[in-house]
Parts: sequence; structure tokens; C-alpha cells
Amino acid sequence: MLVDYHMHLRGPDDDGGTRRYSVDRAEEYVAEARAAGIDEIGFSDHVCYFRQTREIWEIPWLAERCSDNLDEYVDAVVEAKRRGLPVKLGLEVDYFPGTERELAALLDPYPWDYLLGSVHFVDGFPVDQQPGLTDKLPPAEAWRRYFVWLRNAARSGLFDSLSHPDLVKIFGVRATDEETHYLHVETADAIEAAGVCVEVSAAGLHKPVGELYPDRALLELCRERGAPITLASDAHRPEHVGRDVERAAKLAREVGYETVTVFDRRERRQEPLG
Ligand SMILES: [Zn+2]
Ligand SMILES: [Zn+2]
Repeated sequence: MLVDYHMHLRGPDDDGGTRRYSVDRAEEYVAEARAAGIDEIGFSDHVCYFRQTREIWEIPWLAERCSDNLDEYVDAVVEAKRRGLPVKLGLEVDYFPGTERELAALLDPYPWDYLLGSVHFVDGFPVDQQPGLTDKLPPAEAWRRYFVWLRNAARSGLFDSLSHPDLVKIFGVRATDEETHYLHVETADAIEAAGVCVEVSAAGLHKPVGELYPDRALLELCRERGAPITLASDAHRPEHVGRDVERAAKLAREVGYETVTVFDRRERRQEPLG
């Protein structure tokens, strides 16, 4: 089975400002998924785009983007499920220490199939925008702090899978091999202890780094510890659904994974990775 559990239903900002959280739009994603050989997709729009979360964010960049209605998004995906489309209701949730309780209370009433945990900001600096964390700090320190936050996201218990787990490499800035090794081991240990899944994402192939997330070495350590995986394209438009997910699955198979995780209402099970 091949799944793609990370994509954004929200129309791009250049789309005349219209948000298209609709079943029709979901159907466009499903059609692309079928063409790409993907059996099931999961939507995971950004939590920070929903006005219901505005009070939570201290970072202006996030607070300024809270314009959409979370109910509209959830209703569209729930209706798509009701019509029998092979879709799941997820959300990509920014992790900030101190927001755990508020976030959990806000998200609790909705029928999520899974929640992705993402670290896009560390100590106020963006990870995947420039200038950002790796411009502000030397590589080793940027990497160290990023992984501290990721481990705390794992431990928070809020999330079912960790998105693009080594996003800090996005611009090709790296800590040394030795520093990276210890960060990988500590992170894999935290993932194992938390019982959370790790996402294998093709998104990095289309960023300056030009690689899958995570590094093979980190994925190997996760495999050794029995951490399950989810698969992801991180598509922001229908034509990118499933893009290079087969390459992500290939890496997973190469390090020994034989199954992929499928979620229903936050219960997970393993299906043969195919
Ligand atoms: Zn992300
Ligand atoms: Zn995303």
C-alpha cells in the first residue's frame, strides 16, 4: 500500500485570495493520487492558517496568517470521507513549547485521523525561510537547537507523526558528521520513547538541499528502534500529490521498513509497504 499523508488543501495565495476548502477540491487531489498510484491520501493543512488558533501564536508571521475557518476545512474533508473518497483528516501543527495544553483543548473536538507535528520556528527564528535559523546561528548550534525542539515535539504527546524531521537541512547548511550523529541518536531515542511515527518526506527533493527528509542515517536509527513511518509529498496543489513518494518508500525499504502506517481517528495500524 502507498499513502501520502501530508498535503495542503488550501489554495495558494496567488489563487485570487480564495480559500478552497471544498469537496470538489479534495476530489482533484484524489484524482491526482489515483494517477500517481497512491491508495490513500491525508490532508494536513497548516494549523496557523485558521483563525480559531490566533490567540496561540506569539510569532507575528503566524498570527498574521490566521484568516481561514477551521470548521470549513474539517467539513470539506469529512464530507469527502462520507462520499467514500480515500482521504483522511489530518492537520500540520506547529510545535511551540508552552502551547501544548491550549492546542490540545482547541483541537480536541474535531475528528482527526492524525496530527502531524512540525518545527518551523526555533527560538523565534524560521527554519524554512531566509534569513532564518541557519543564518542567525553557526550550523552546529542551529542543528542542536532544532533537534531539541523536535525532541520536545515528540515528547509532547500531541502528535502522531513528526513532519520533515530534519527540516533544518533545507538550505544545505549542515553540522559536522560527528555532531549530526549524536543529534540523530538522541532524536531517534526520543522518537522511540514517545512512540511517535516519523515522516519520510519527498518535499526536500524540491528544496535547495535536494534530498529526502530525513537523512538515511536518522531513518536507520528509527528503524532499529521500531519507530513506524508515514509517507509524504507535502503537496500544496493537486498536481504534486504523490510526487516522489515512491522514492521516499524506496529509502524506507532500503533501511528495512516493510510497512507503512495508516490512521483512523488517531488509531494506527501497519499495512505492507508497496
Ligand atoms: Zn511543514
Ligand atoms: Zn506541509
